[in-house]
Amino acid sequence: MNGTVEIVSDVFLALIGLCIGSFLNVLIYRLPLGMNIASPPSHCPKCNAKIKWYDNIPLVSYLVLGGKCRVCKEKIPFRYFFVELANLLLWVAVLALFDLSVYSVAYALLSSVLLAIVFIDAEHQIIPDSLNLTVAILGVAVTVYSVFFPAITGRIGSNEVLWWEHLAGGAGAAALFLAIYFLYRLIRKKEGLGGGDIKLIGALGLVLGYRSVLLCIGASAVLACIYLLIMKIAGKLDPAKPFAFGPFLAAAAYLCMLFGNDLIGLYLRLF
Ligand SMILES: [Zn+2]
Repeated sequence: MNGTVEIVSDVFLALIGLCIGSFLNVLIYRLPLGMNIASPPSHCPKCNAKIKWYDNIPLVSYLVLGGKCRVCKEKIPFRYFFVELANLLLWVAVLALFDLSVYSVAYALLSSVLLAIVFIDAEHQIIPDSLNLTVAILGVAVTVYSVFFPAITGRIGSNEVLWWEHLAGGAGAAALFLAIYFLYRLIRKKEGLGGGDIKLIGALGLVLGYRSVLLCIGASAVLACIYLLIMKIAGKLDPAKPFAFGPFLAAAAYLCMLFGNDLIGLYLRLF
């Protein structure tokens, strides 16, 4: 019986994940342009035709329409399909790895917000305050929850993050990035990190706790270095183009959120 309840609740949550993935596409398109996210209803940017509900079903509609507007046959960017699929997979990963709690719900929502940040920062080199604020609210939720239930349990063991570790993570990570920001400005006489990055790492620190967010900072730096190295070797590095750090922070946050407990546990057992 319990198994059935679990399957039904997992399927239900996965469906919510699909719908949120579809909403993320609206956010990614409209937030950087300063458009209202609720109205007007979705329409084709080329022919302005309103998108009917049956052409707006996550994943399915893109495949049925062959990635084209039903009316004017304008190509729909593959990003729409990718974001919906990636969001679904991230939600399934969180649901599979963690027991249902405020933590797992916050992690699932965090994966969605980070996905929007990846695409907006990569294209526009900004991280909207509303998205950083959402991450911070998730951080406050898990911090309050951790006062009563500090354990994050799941199918890969459990980890305890106390309320003060969440607070230390938020304050410490933001302070570290602020210090890097001022040092860089002092030495290079230009801005390295953006204000959005500093707010994001502070909010992420609140969600993850200080141990996991330290791992996140380290992993994001390594990922960014690997990317820059590959681009340099490929001769595609343009020093004039502003560099978006958000996608690397997000990728590292995924790693830390999903596997951070195990990595830290492994590290602590080694020494
Ligand atoms: Zn159209």
